Amino acid sequence: MKSSIPKKDSSLNRFLTDNLNELKSKGLYNQINSLQSPNGPIITINNKNLINLSSNNYLGLATNENLKLAEINAINKYGVGAGAVRTINGTLDIHDLLETTIAKFKGTEAAIAFQSGFNCNMGAISAVMDKNDAILSDELNHASIIDGCRLSGAKIIRYKHSDMNDLRNQAKIAKDSGKYVKLMVITDGVFSMDGDIAKLPEIVEIANEFDLITYVDDAHGSGVMGNGAGTCKHFGLSDKIDFQIGTLSKAIGVVGGYVAGSKDLIDWLKVRGRPFLFSTSLTPGSAAACVESINILMESSYLVNKVWENGNYLKKGLKSLGFNIGKSETPITPCIIGDESKTQLFSKRLLEEGVYAKSIVFPTVPKGTGRVRNMPTSAHTKEMLDQALSIYEKVGKELNII
Ligand SMILES: *Cc1c(COP(=O)(O)O)cnc(C)c1O
Repeated sequence: MKSSIPKKDSSLNRFLTDNLNELKSKGLYNQINSLQSPNGPIITINNKNLINLSSNNYLGLATNENLKLAEINAINKYGVGAGAVRTINGTLDIHDLLETTIAKFKGTEAAIAFQSGFNCNMGAISAVMDKNDAILSDELNHASIIDGCRLSGAKIIRYKHSDMNDLRNQAKIAKDSGKYVKLMVITDGVFSMDGDIAKLPEIVEIANEFDLITYVDDAHGSGVMGNGAGTCKHFGLSDKIDFQIGTLSKAIGVVGGYVAGSKDLIDWLKVRGRPFLFSTSLTPGSAAACVESINILMESSYLVNKVWENGNYLKKGLKSLGFNIGKSETPITPCIIGDESKTQLFSKRLLEEGVYAKSIVFPTVPKGTGRVRNMPTSAHTKEMLDQALSIYEKVGKELNII
């Protein structure tokens, strides 16, 4: 048998060594810490318990007992794998139930589930847009939107973040040029780095004016905004947005992604959404757990109210300590430090003192706006948040940030 290890002087070996060394020398190489516990409000890393302010498990549903039971029952009924892609014979009735449940939750005619939010964007954009089209895309859109746009081959026109004058101007130029068959506008519903909300009423108005297809990726808004149903619902625009994208891996607590929209759109995505055709379906257990999760959200607003209550409590606390918490309008609470190395040091000291809050620096956010991003969840208690705040105070004073 031949060894597959690259030869010492191979082009791959040179590429890997050079690039890894460069990242490491710049302090940009990300060391991954694994958890020895569920990703709940308290996590265990290297045998140390830490207050967790970095997960997307907004409503604590990832460890919910009813979801676990739904998953176990589905495994007993269907096994662990779906066995095929959706269009061959990997559609089990639990997948159909998941899709009708999502449509009900979102207030749309129909929905289609994908294996993740990321591949949902890869599949959905390119199923509709091609090289004869153009996409107007907010400059702070998520990486999966950017990749989905690139894959479609459409011309990508970036507009300044939430700048509606810029969007209108660019839409007018694109429309007047007569160069494109279709135009689309794409935005996150809630922006994950600052926690601000897309200006959907204006976006819909501009879309009407220039005949733009509307595409909202509400990964961080679903389960949080609009009493849980998301940002489109929050603005009363559920029937005005063509594509409502969501993930089943954040507030919903499991894994998967979806598009909710008109019956015709969903019928089309079921024949042209490539991850739906060429990648095996969600596991039956995940699908069942997602159904249970969405049913919990439709029955009660308790968890949604709780994440807002905790978010507001943490924000008020950090602000009164003197931290810059930016312009967040949602429970996502950035603590903006500015300087990149100071941000990393701050996060490291928080960790040593018992708070897990990841630093986020350039290129994920603009230079000089390094931050520690906090995601309080419904599962945090006031005591946990108070303890986190006292650690923030100690470390903030120690590093002369407050
Ligand atoms: C997290 C996220 C995704 C990816 O969702 P996954 O289900 O984790 O693949 C897509 N879009 C946005 C805006 C996100 O924040």
